[in-house]
Amino acid sequence: MPELPEVETVRRGLAPAMEGVVIETAHVNRPDLRWPFPERMAERLSGQRVERLRRRSKYILADLSGGETLIVHLGMSGRMTVSGMKLGNFHHQHPAPEKHDHVVFDMANGARVTFNDARRFGAMDLAATEAVEAHWLLREIGPEPLGNRFDEAYLVERLKGRMVPIKTALLDQRVVAGLGNIYVCEVLHRAGIDPRRKAGRISAARVASLVPLIRVVLEEAIISGGSSLKDYRQADGAMGYFQHGFRVYDREGAACPTAGCDGRVDRIVQSGRSTFLCARCQR
Ligand SMILES: [Zn+2]
Repeated sequence: MPELPEVETVRRGLAPAMEGVVIETAHVNRPDLRWPFPERMAERLSGQRVERLRRRSKYILADLSGGETLIVHLGMSGRMTVSGMKLGNFHHQHPAPEKHDHVVFDMANGARVTFNDARRFGAMDLAATEAVEAHWLLREIGPEPLGNRFDEAYLVERLKGRMVPIKTALLDQRVVAGLGNIYVCEVLHRAGIDPRRKAGRISAARVASLVPLIRVVLEEAIISGGSSLKDYRQADGAMGYFQHGFRVYDREGAACPTAGCDGRVDRIVQSGRSTFLCARCQR
């Protein structure tokens, strides 16, 4: 499942193909993904110029010249592919259509952007640009972790008195936008905080220490995603899925990477999902 850095990487990969460019024709090949598409979606998209391609949490938002915004979520398995233009070091020809190519944008610059989603947990909707923050998919989402509204004072206040595990609190999209299982595990390891500790029982200073760590972990992943746009892994023109050097995520049994710690990475299950931690240095 893509998290914020993967979605940001997709956005950056799409921008040269889409930003400032007219969608000549939008092809919508089925009535729905996770939810029904909006009425007349193909018509409402065709002929519109993409004024700006931005990201809110794990959503890509394309502001259109006609005053609407296209909201895109990749779901579990959604992929966006650019063909017909130079992307990084590659020029991708238009590939043969595939079975799960549900939405295809033929851009006026010759690029083709294809949304392929085998499992169909992805989503697309249209909303008035001026009201997009109030859209039901977006309105409850908390501040962007890389934005100004997310700071130490905010996080300390938000977690005060909360008796859920700190991992659960950080996964709550109303607390902070876009964090998922992978990066929460990484952040808590770097902070030396046990993911099972109740959020409200952790000192304010330690909660505050999470804010710069969240930024660093996400920014490193975005940089790594950006470099993946240029290298061989992007040879098929698909963006957003890349391997990072995770410190604990999916590294059960590995030596703990914290300097001076001789612990090992454990895997436990919290709320049905894997948590990776070093029980020796995360307290
Ligand atoms: Zn350790």
